[in-house]
Amino acid sequence: MSVVLIPTIPHAQKAPAEWNSDWELFLLRPEFAPPHGPAACFTEYLTRIKMTPGLEAATFDGLRGHRDHLCGLQALETEDCLDYFHSRGFEVDWMGATPATRAKHVLIGLAEACSIAANLNQARAYCAHELRLSYLSDTGDVVLELLKSVLADDNSFVPATPKYISTPSWDAFEVMQNNSNPTEMERIALDTILVFRTMLICFVLLYTMRSFLGEALPKVPVLKGATKTRRSEFLTNLAKATLKQTLGTNGAKMQRHEINEGIQQRRALAVRHCASLACCKPEVADGVKFSRCRSCMDNLKREIFYCSRSCQKADWKHRHKDICGKTLNYAESTKIVPHPTELKNASGRIGPPVNGYKRPFPLVRQVTMLNEAPSIDYYLANSQNRDVDLKMADSITPIFRATRETACTTGNIEVIAAFTHFLCWSVNVQGLNTKYGLSPAGVVTQLAREFNIEVGRLRELVRRLQHVQDQHPNRIPPLLLSLDGAAWAQLSAGIVADETAVRFD
Ligand SMILES: [Zn+2]
Ligand SMILES: [Zn+2]
Repeated sequence: MSVVLIPTIPHAQKAPAEWNSDWELFLLRPEFAPPHGPAACFTEYLTRIKMTPGLEAATFDGLRGHRDHLCGLQALETEDCLDYFHSRGFEVDWMGATPATRAKHVLIGLAEACSIAANLNQARAYCAHELRLSYLSDTGDVVLELLKSVLADDNSFVPATPKYISTPSWDAFEVMQNNSNPTEMERIALDTILVFRTMLICFVLLYTMRSFLGEALPKVPVLKGATKTRRSEFLTNLAKATLKQTLGTNGAKMQRHEINEGIQQRRALAVRHCASLACCKPEVADGVKFSRCRSCMDNLKREIFYCSRSCQKADWKHRHKDICGKTLNYAESTKIVPHPTELKNASGRIGPPVNGYKRPFPLVRQVTMLNEAPSIDYYLANSQNRDVDLKMADSITPIFRATRETACTTGNIEVIAAFTHFLCWSVNVQGLNTKYGLSPAGVVTQLAREFNIEVGRLRELVRRLQHVQDQHPNRIPPLLLSLDGAAWAQLSAGIVADETAVRFD
């Protein structure tokens, strides 16, 4: 396939609605019709790389940065959702809005996201299925489902691998491509396309949500690649001639304009960031000048900046020594290095979900808060919807934490019921009813929401466990049956059994 002529960024900014319908028309062309779309995009991308000297090396060099960028973007998106779903009622309001209202904000999201950079505008061709205006706005659940598919299970750290958005045509293409003995260049090209595809959808979702809530749409700094090399070599005479041959004089002119515009936009938006993942600080005009890694600059014109010696040293040890001054191969450019914060407090953390368990969003919020404050055992919302932090007695902490771990990583309903009953009992025993406005009924409602269980069902399971406790000679809550006698005696001293029974009015 030849180089394609795509609706441009200036077009998006001057006339978003028209720009959008041009895009949608463009993607109706037969070469994009399922299941051909991915193959057409892939061929076009490879052609562009071949035509543009310096772009092949830049593609190998850029993937790690783009992937890090996407991980950071998904962490930001999760943080927004933790706030907007919990305290702004985004989910309910979005579902309740009219299709026309939703469409207005989706269009802003699309135009703004594609305007960030030429390669993101180009990436719209990779999202032919997802990024259709009516698909995203006719019913509210499409945006919500897409959001949920990229949100983290735990936002207390930035993950080292992004969550890709699955769609049948791209999934099938990926399998076919991987089975066809691809070259290194083909592998890196497909990885890059999948990163940009996901990145663009994430930006559209973020901007749509923020626009809907009347929040600012921040100009997101675009990570810099080896811009020096690309700037001078981007459009060689050969490339210009090929453009003209495939697109005709006017088409080539427009495409050249688009490419140059993209370069200028990137240059204008590009902010130097400290390359240490634990820092990522942007360089500001009146602040300390960042220094670049000399070996990367001298050998490859690769610009890697650090805000300080200590960041450079930390990043060197953590990951830069593997790539410094070297041209990357596929293995090096796709190597996953965990983010430094992921490694902190590893022992006190709730682990990732297992066996395909998908955490409901309120639970992601709980897990994130707990992993950010490893000394807290659980957060319970009081009658004013404030989070009250809960700490267990030392003797029961191990049992409590083991149960919490199983509940939060598997979603096992028996375990959740025992955990919920125990939390209700703790609220009574610790006298948190009067002190903080917590109640067993409130605990059940909260846990039902966090684990996405019907409230009546969870309440019934908790009632049954209370019955088990009532039958026990010492009235030990079922969760603590494995506690040794002495520990229970100490714990229960002063507890009036009748007052600890978990009842619902
Ligand atoms: Zn730094
Ligand atoms: Zn270096």
